[in-house]
Amino acid sequence: MSNKPRCLVRGSINVDEFFHVPSIVQPGETLSSTHYERRSGGKGANQAVAVAKGGGDVTLVGAVGSDGNWVLDGLKQVGVDISSVFVTQEEPTGRAIIQLTPQEEAVRSVLFTHLLLQNEIPFASTLSALAHAHRSGATTLFNPSPIPSVEQLRIFPWSQLDWLLVNQGEALSLLRAFNSQTNESSQNSHISIDIPSSWPSRPEIRAAYLLLHRLRANTAFSPKVNLVCTLGGLGVLALLNSGEGLYVPAAKLNGPVKDTTGAGDCFTGYLVAGLMEVETDGRIESLAKDVVERILRRAIEAAGICVQRPGATESIPYRTELPAIE
Ligand code: ADP
Repeated sequence: MSNKPRCLVRGSINVDEFFHVPSIVQPGETLSSTHYERRSGGKGANQAVAVAKGGGDVTLVGAVGSDGNWVLDGLKQVGVDISSVFVTQEEPTGRAIIQLTPQEEAVRSVLFTHLLLQNEIPFASTLSALAHAHRSGATTLFNPSPIPSVEQLRIFPWSQLDWLLVNQGEALSLLRAFNSQTNESSQNSHISIDIPSSWPSRPEIRAAYLLLHRLRANTAFSPKVNLVCTLGGLGVLALLNSGEGLYVPAAKLNGPVKDTTGAGDCFTGYLVAGLMEVETDGRIESLAKDVVERILRRAIEAAGICVQRPGATESIPYRTELPAIE
Protein backbone atom coordinates (compact mmCIF):
# COMPACT_ATOMS: atom_id res chain seq x y z
CA MET A 1 0.00 0.00 0.00
CA SER A 2 1.36 3.40 -0.99
CA ASN A 3 1.11 6.47 1.23
CA LYS A 4 0.59 8.86 -1.65
CA PRO A 5 -3.10 8.55 -2.50
CA ARG A 6 -3.74 7.04 -5.90
CA CYS A 7 -7.00 5.80 -7.32
CA LEU A 8 -7.05 2.72 -9.48
CA VAL A 9 -10.02 2.58 -11.83
CA ARG A 10 -10.54 -0.93 -13.17
CA GLY A 11 -13.10 -0.50 -15.88
CA SER A 12 -14.24 0.02 -19.42
CA ILE A 13 -12.81 2.17 -22.19
CA ASN A 14 -15.11 2.51 -25.19
CA VAL A 15 -15.51 4.35 -28.43
CA ASP A 16 -18.99 5.86 -28.65
CA GLU A 17 -20.04 6.44 -32.24
CA PHE A 18 -22.65 9.04 -33.19
CA PHE A 19 -24.30 9.18 -36.59
CA HIS A 20 -26.19 12.45 -37.00
CA VAL A 21 -29.20 11.96 -39.32
CA PRO A 22 -31.76 14.51 -40.62
CA SER A 23 -34.74 12.56 -39.19
CA ILE A 24 -35.47 9.39 -37.24
CA VAL A 25 -35.00 6.41 -39.53
CA GLN A 26 -38.19 4.47 -40.34
CA PRO A 27 -38.35 0.67 -40.84
CA GLY A 28 -37.01 -0.20 -44.31
CA GLU A 29 -35.67 3.32 -44.87
CA THR A 30 -32.02 4.09 -45.52
CA LEU A 31 -30.76 7.48 -44.41
CA SER A 32 -27.37 9.03 -45.08
CA SER A 33 -25.84 10.53 -41.99
CA THR A 34 -24.94 14.19 -42.30
CA HIS A 35 -22.20 14.02 -39.71
CA TYR A 36 -20.23 11.30 -37.97
CA GLU A 37 -18.63 11.78 -34.61
CA ARG A 38 -16.68 9.45 -32.35
CA ARG A 39 -16.00 10.17 -28.73
CA SER A 40 -14.13 8.29 -26.09
CA GLY A 41 -16.43 6.75 -23.53
CA GLY A 42 -16.91 3.89 -21.13
CA LYS A 43 -17.71 4.47 -17.47
CA GLY A 44 -14.22 3.43 -16.39
CA ALA A 45 -12.56 6.02 -18.62
CA ASN A 46 -15.12 8.73 -17.85
CA GLN A 47 -14.83 8.31 -14.08
CA ALA A 48 -11.03 8.22 -14.32
CA VAL A 49 -11.19 11.58 -16.14
CA ALA A 50 -13.39 12.95 -13.34
CA VAL A 51 -10.94 11.79 -10.65
CA ALA A 52 -8.06 13.45 -12.54
CA LYS A 53 -9.93 16.71 -13.17
CA GLY A 54 -11.02 16.63 -9.52
CA GLY A 55 -7.36 16.74 -8.51
CA GLY A 56 -6.62 13.06 -7.76
CA ASP A 57 -3.80 10.88 -9.07
CA VAL A 58 -5.44 8.10 -11.05
CA THR A 59 -4.38 4.98 -12.94
CA LEU A 60 -6.78 3.34 -15.36
CA VAL A 61 -6.57 -0.40 -15.95
CA GLY A 62 -8.58 -1.62 -18.90
CA ALA A 63 -8.20 -2.53 -22.53
CA VAL A 64 -8.46 -0.83 -25.90
CA GLY A 65 -8.09 -2.14 -29.41
CA SER A 66 -5.26 -0.96 -31.61
CA ASP A 67 -7.78 1.52 -33.08
CA GLY A 68 -8.00 3.18 -29.67
CA ASN A 69 -4.73 5.06 -29.40
CA TRP A 70 -6.47 8.41 -29.88
CA VAL A 71 -8.67 7.55 -26.87
CA LEU A 72 -5.58 6.99 -24.75
CA ASP A 73 -4.09 10.29 -25.95
CA GLY A 74 -7.21 12.10 -24.73
CA LEU A 75 -7.07 10.40 -21.32
CA LYS A 76 -3.38 11.20 -20.94
CA GLN A 77 -3.99 14.84 -21.79
CA VAL A 78 -6.26 15.31 -18.78
CA GLY A 79 -3.78 13.56 -16.49
CA VAL A 80 -5.00 9.94 -16.35
CA ASP A 81 -2.12 7.46 -16.05
CA ILE A 82 -2.71 5.06 -18.94
CA SER A 83 0.57 3.15 -18.67
CA SER A 84 -1.32 0.05 -17.44
CA VAL A 85 -3.94 0.06 -20.19
CA PHE A 86 -3.65 -3.07 -22.29
CA VAL A 87 -3.67 -2.45 -26.04
CA THR A 88 -4.88 -5.54 -27.85
CA GLN A 89 -4.25 -6.17 -31.53
CA GLU A 90 -7.09 -8.66 -31.83
CA GLU A 91 -10.22 -6.74 -30.89
CA PRO A 92 -11.46 -3.26 -31.66
CA THR A 93 -11.98 -0.97 -28.66
CA GLY A 94 -14.95 -1.66 -26.40
CA ARG A 95 -16.73 -3.97 -28.79
CA ALA A 96 -15.87 -7.33 -27.31
CA ILE A 97 -15.02 -8.99 -24.07
CA ILE A 98 -11.27 -8.93 -24.07
CA GLN A 99 -9.05 -11.55 -22.46
CA LEU A 100 -8.49 -10.69 -18.80
CA THR A 101 -5.19 -12.00 -17.57
CA PRO A 102 -2.92 -9.02 -18.43
CA GLN A 103 -5.30 -6.60 -16.73
CA GLU A 104 -5.53 -8.72 -13.57
CA GLU A 105 -1.73 -8.66 -13.44
CA ALA A 106 -1.74 -4.89 -13.94
CA VAL A 107 -4.11 -4.42 -10.97
CA ARG A 108 -1.62 -6.30 -8.81
CA SER A 109 1.37 -4.29 -9.97
CA VAL A 110 -0.06 -0.80 -9.33
CA LEU A 111 0.25 0.79 -5.88
CA PHE A 112 -3.05 2.41 -4.99
CA THR A 113 -5.04 3.59 -1.99
CA HIS A 114 -8.52 3.72 -3.60
CA LEU A 115 -10.24 1.38 -6.04
CA LEU A 116 -13.16 2.54 -8.17
CA LEU A 117 -15.32 -0.03 -9.98
CA GLN A 118 -18.31 0.08 -12.30
CA ASN A 119 -20.09 -2.78 -14.07
CA GLU A 120 -19.04 -2.54 -17.71
CA ILE A 121 -16.32 -5.19 -17.59
CA PRO A 122 -16.71 -8.92 -16.88
CA PHE A 123 -18.07 -9.40 -13.36
CA ALA A 124 -15.25 -11.83 -12.48
CA SER A 125 -12.70 -9.05 -13.13
CA THR A 126 -14.59 -6.67 -10.87
CA LEU A 127 -14.65 -9.25 -8.06
CA SER A 128 -10.99 -10.06 -8.51
CA ALA A 129 -9.92 -6.39 -8.30
CA LEU A 130 -12.18 -5.84 -5.27
CA ALA A 131 -10.76 -8.80 -3.35
CA HIS A 132 -7.20 -7.68 -4.05
CA ALA A 133 -7.89 -4.05 -3.03
CA HIS A 134 -9.68 -5.07 0.15
CA ARG A 135 -6.82 -7.37 1.14
CA SER A 136 -4.29 -4.60 0.57
CA GLY A 137 -6.20 -2.13 2.79
CA ALA A 138 -7.41 0.19 0.01
CA THR A 139 -10.73 2.05 0.15
CA THR A 140 -13.12 0.35 -2.26
CA LEU A 141 -15.94 2.03 -4.19
CA PHE A 142 -18.50 0.45 -6.51
CA ASN A 143 -20.91 2.16 -8.88
CA PRO A 144 -23.08 -0.79 -10.04
CA SER A 145 -23.91 0.65 -13.44
CA PRO A 146 -25.36 -0.91 -15.49
CA ILE A 147 -27.05 -2.83 -12.71
CA PRO A 148 -25.69 -6.39 -12.33
CA SER A 149 -28.03 -9.40 -12.55
CA VAL A 150 -29.94 -10.52 -9.45
CA GLU A 151 -27.65 -13.53 -9.23
CA GLN A 152 -24.53 -11.32 -9.33
CA LEU A 153 -25.94 -8.95 -6.70
CA ARG A 154 -26.57 -11.88 -4.42
CA ILE A 155 -23.03 -13.22 -4.60
CA PHE A 156 -21.35 -9.81 -4.43
CA PRO A 157 -18.99 -9.70 -1.38
CA TRP A 158 -20.50 -6.57 0.22
CA SER A 159 -18.26 -6.84 3.27
CA GLN A 160 -15.25 -6.02 1.03
CA LEU A 161 -16.85 -2.74 -0.03
CA ASP A 162 -16.52 0.68 1.66
CA TRP A 163 -18.68 2.90 -0.57
CA LEU A 164 -21.66 2.04 -2.77
CA LEU A 165 -22.59 4.79 -5.24
CA VAL A 166 -26.03 4.44 -6.82
CA ASN A 167 -28.87 6.40 -8.32
CA GLN A 168 -32.42 5.79 -7.13
CA GLY A 169 -33.21 3.15 -9.77
CA GLU A 170 -30.09 1.19 -8.90
CA ALA A 171 -30.88 1.38 -5.16
CA LEU A 172 -34.34 -0.04 -5.82
CA SER A 173 -32.99 -2.88 -7.98
CA LEU A 174 -30.56 -3.80 -5.22
CA LEU A 175 -33.26 -3.88 -2.58
CA ARG A 176 -35.48 -6.06 -4.76
CA ALA A 177 -32.62 -8.49 -5.39
CA PHE A 178 -31.83 -8.72 -1.67
CA ASN A 179 -35.44 -9.08 -0.63
CA SER A 180 -36.01 -11.91 -3.08
CA GLN A 181 -32.96 -13.62 -1.58
CA THR A 182 -33.75 -13.23 2.10
CA ASN A 183 -37.52 -13.00 1.98
CA GLU A 184 -37.17 -9.92 4.12
CA SER A 185 -39.62 -7.62 2.43
CA SER A 186 -42.21 -8.26 5.12
CA GLN A 187 -39.68 -7.60 7.90
CA ASN A 188 -37.95 -4.46 6.77
CA SER A 189 -40.89 -2.78 5.08
CA HIS A 190 -41.87 -1.55 8.56
CA ILE A 191 -38.65 0.34 9.20
CA SER A 192 -39.50 3.84 10.27
CA ILE A 193 -37.08 6.72 9.87
CA ASP A 194 -36.74 10.22 11.19
CA ILE A 195 -36.02 12.80 8.53
CA PRO A 196 -33.94 15.68 9.94
CA SER A 197 -36.09 18.81 10.14
CA SER A 198 -33.50 20.81 8.17
CA TRP A 199 -34.12 18.67 5.06
CA PRO A 200 -36.75 19.74 2.51
CA SER A 201 -39.99 17.85 3.09
CA ARG A 202 -40.19 16.27 -0.36
CA PRO A 203 -41.70 12.81 -0.75
CA GLU A 204 -38.95 11.79 -3.24
CA ILE A 205 -36.25 12.51 -0.68
CA ARG A 206 -38.13 10.70 2.06
CA ALA A 207 -38.73 7.66 -0.18
CA ALA A 208 -35.06 7.48 -1.23
CA TYR A 209 -33.85 7.82 2.37
CA LEU A 210 -36.17 5.03 3.45
CA LEU A 211 -34.82 2.92 0.60
CA LEU A 212 -31.25 3.42 1.85
CA HIS A 213 -32.26 2.41 5.38
CA ARG A 214 -33.94 -0.72 4.07
CA LEU A 215 -30.85 -1.62 2.08
CA ARG A 216 -28.65 -1.11 5.09
CA ALA A 217 -30.87 -3.22 7.34
CA ASN A 218 -31.03 -6.12 4.92
CA THR A 219 -29.12 -9.18 6.09
CA ALA A 220 -27.84 -9.80 2.54
CA PHE A 221 -26.01 -6.46 2.70
CA SER A 222 -23.22 -5.18 4.94
CA PRO A 223 -23.77 -2.32 7.42
CA LYS A 224 -20.08 -1.41 6.97
CA VAL A 225 -20.84 0.04 3.54
CA ASN A 226 -21.35 3.81 3.21
CA LEU A 227 -24.30 4.42 0.88
CA VAL A 228 -24.50 7.38 -1.50
CA CYS A 229 -27.55 7.86 -3.69
CA THR A 230 -27.77 10.59 -6.35
CA LEU A 231 -31.22 12.04 -6.98
CA GLY A 232 -30.76 13.92 -10.29
CA GLY A 233 -31.89 17.53 -9.94
CA LEU A 234 -32.71 16.95 -6.27
CA GLY A 235 -29.09 16.40 -5.25
CA VAL A 236 -27.71 13.54 -3.18
CA LEU A 237 -28.43 11.49 -0.07
CA ALA A 238 -25.96 9.50 1.98
CA LEU A 239 -26.34 6.98 4.78
CA LEU A 240 -22.95 6.54 6.42
CA ASN A 241 -21.79 3.35 8.12
CA SER A 242 -22.06 5.25 11.43
CA GLY A 243 -25.84 5.33 10.80
CA GLU A 244 -25.81 9.11 10.17
CA GLY A 245 -27.73 10.55 7.24
CA LEU A 246 -26.74 13.42 4.95
CA TYR A 247 -28.62 15.37 2.32
CA VAL A 248 -27.00 17.88 -0.05
CA PRO A 249 -29.24 19.73 -2.52
CA ALA A 250 -28.23 19.99 -6.18
CA ALA A 251 -26.07 22.93 -7.23
CA LYS A 252 -27.77 26.19 -8.13
CA LEU A 253 -27.41 26.47 -11.88
CA ASN A 254 -26.58 29.66 -13.76
CA GLY A 255 -28.16 28.47 -16.99
CA PRO A 256 -30.28 25.68 -18.49
CA VAL A 257 -29.52 21.96 -18.21
CA LYS A 258 -27.82 20.97 -21.49
CA ASP A 259 -26.72 17.35 -21.07
CA THR A 260 -26.93 15.13 -18.00
CA THR A 261 -25.04 12.22 -19.64
CA GLY A 262 -21.80 12.45 -17.70
CA ALA A 263 -23.16 13.97 -14.49
CA GLY A 264 -23.19 10.73 -12.50
CA ASP A 265 -19.62 9.91 -13.56
CA CYS A 266 -18.48 13.45 -12.77
CA PHE A 267 -20.04 13.24 -9.31
CA THR A 268 -18.44 9.84 -8.67
CA GLY A 269 -14.93 10.92 -9.76
CA TYR A 270 -15.08 14.05 -7.61
CA LEU A 271 -16.29 12.03 -4.62
CA VAL A 272 -13.29 9.72 -4.93
CA ALA A 273 -10.87 12.66 -5.40
CA GLY A 274 -12.33 14.16 -2.21
CA LEU A 275 -11.91 10.93 -0.24
CA MET A 276 -8.31 10.69 -1.43
CA GLU A 277 -7.60 14.08 0.15
CA VAL A 278 -8.73 12.99 3.60
CA GLU A 279 -7.64 9.35 3.51
CA THR A 280 -3.99 10.06 2.77
CA ASP A 281 -2.76 7.15 4.89
CA GLY A 282 -5.27 4.59 3.70
CA ARG A 283 -8.81 3.59 4.54
CA ILE A 284 -10.59 5.31 7.43
CA GLU A 285 -13.29 2.98 8.74
CA SER A 286 -15.75 5.70 9.65
CA LEU A 287 -15.33 9.26 8.36
CA ALA A 288 -16.82 12.20 10.26
CA LYS A 289 -20.12 13.43 8.87
CA ASP A 290 -18.95 17.01 8.27
CA VAL A 291 -15.93 15.74 6.32
CA VAL A 292 -18.15 13.67 4.03
CA GLU A 293 -20.57 16.56 3.64
CA ARG A 294 -17.81 18.81 2.33
CA ILE A 295 -16.74 16.15 -0.17
CA LEU A 296 -20.34 15.66 -1.34
CA ARG A 297 -20.86 19.40 -1.72
CA ARG A 298 -17.84 19.71 -3.94
CA ALA A 299 -18.95 16.71 -6.06
CA ILE A 300 -22.40 18.30 -6.36
CA GLU A 301 -20.88 21.60 -7.52
CA ALA A 302 -18.85 19.75 -10.16
CA ALA A 303 -21.92 17.80 -11.38
CA GLY A 304 -23.89 21.08 -11.52
CA ILE A 305 -21.32 22.58 -13.91
CA CYS A 306 -21.24 19.32 -15.90
CA VAL A 307 -25.00 19.29 -16.67
CA GLN A 308 -24.80 22.79 -18.14
CA ARG A 309 -22.30 21.72 -20.80
CA PRO A 310 -22.62 19.23 -23.65
CA GLY A 311 -20.60 16.01 -23.81
CA ALA A 312 -19.66 13.20 -21.44
CA THR A 313 -16.08 13.99 -20.41
CA GLU A 314 -15.45 17.41 -21.96
CA SER A 315 -18.24 18.67 -19.70
CA ILE A 316 -16.49 17.60 -16.49
CA PRO A 317 -14.99 20.74 -14.92
CA TYR A 318 -11.47 21.08 -13.58
CA ARG A 319 -11.15 21.69 -9.85
CA THR A 320 -10.07 25.31 -10.52
CA GLU A 321 -13.46 26.01 -12.15
CA LEU A 322 -15.40 25.20 -8.97
CA PRO A 323 -16.59 27.88 -6.56
CA ALA A 324 -14.84 27.84 -3.18
CA ILE A 325 -16.62 25.75 -0.55
CA GLU A 326 -16.38 27.22 2.91
P1 ADP B 1 -27.10 9.26 -12.96
O1 ADP B 1 -26.84 9.97 -14.25
O2 ADP B 1 -25.98 8.35 -12.56
O3 ADP B 1 -28.46 8.63 -12.87
P2 ADP B 1 -28.11 11.55 -11.49
O4 ADP B 1 -29.08 11.80 -12.58
O5 ADP B 1 -28.65 11.29 -10.14
O6 ADP B 1 -27.05 10.40 -11.84
O7 ADP B 1 -27.16 12.83 -11.45
C1 ADP B 1 -25.93 12.85 -10.75
C2 ADP B 1 -25.73 14.21 -10.13
O8 ADP B 1 -25.73 15.20 -11.17
C3 ADP B 1 -26.83 14.66 -9.18
O9 ADP B 1 -26.60 14.23 -7.86
C4 ADP B 1 -26.75 16.18 -9.29
O10 ADP B 1 -25.73 16.66 -8.47
C5 ADP B 1 -26.34 16.40 -10.74
N1 ADP B 1 -27.54 16.66 -11.56
C6 ADP B 1 -28.21 15.81 -12.38
N2 ADP B 1 -29.27 16.42 -12.95
C7 ADP B 1 -29.28 17.71 -12.50
C8 ADP B 1 -30.11 18.85 -12.69
N3 ADP B 1 -31.18 18.78 -13.50
N4 ADP B 1 -29.79 19.98 -12.04
C9 ADP B 1 -28.72 20.07 -11.22
N5 ADP B 1 -27.90 19.04 -10.99
C10 ADP B 1 -28.16 17.86 -11.60
